[in-house]
Amino acid sequence: MRLTILKKKSYYALGLTLAILGIIVLLVVVWRWWATDVFSSPDIISAINSSFGNEDELLGLGLGLSLLPYTIIGIICLVVGSVILVLRRERVTVTEEVTTLLECPLCKHRWEESKSRTHLESIGYPTVRTLSRHRCPKCAKFIRPKIVATKK
Ligand SMILES: [Zn+2]
Repeated sequence: MRLTILKKKSYYALGLTLAILGIIVLLVVVWRWWATDVFSSPDIISAINSSFGNEDELLGLGLGLSLLPYTIIGIICLVVGSVILVLRRERVTVTEEVTTLLECPLCKHRWEESKSRTHLESIGYPTVRTLSRHRCPKCAKFIRPKIVATKK
């Protein structure tokens, strides 16, 4: 349980890092276009095209790179990062589980059970704290267990 939460968090951090990295790289590309007067050119499309062919001294840092690889890297980072974030969000809403501490009203035995968050919300938790009929794992009677506590 702890492990899956940790995994989700690291995916979230990875997606967010990639998306931010992509945005920063694309902003640098836009800034270079702006600095090289691409936006004031009468034909912006061909000015952008030629900027892909020209080596940018500042971005290349002596490596002889043009703006094209930066644009591609920026777009890939942004797309991959966004996809990871979207997939993670969907998975969390589907499988978000809560560990509940249940108590048998007859023998007062307590045990832990994993419930989905949507199920708890559908019964009206935390206002409603009794579950539908369960068999108590200790006294084996059909009871309505009380939710003593929940933890993630
Ligand atoms: Zn019991």
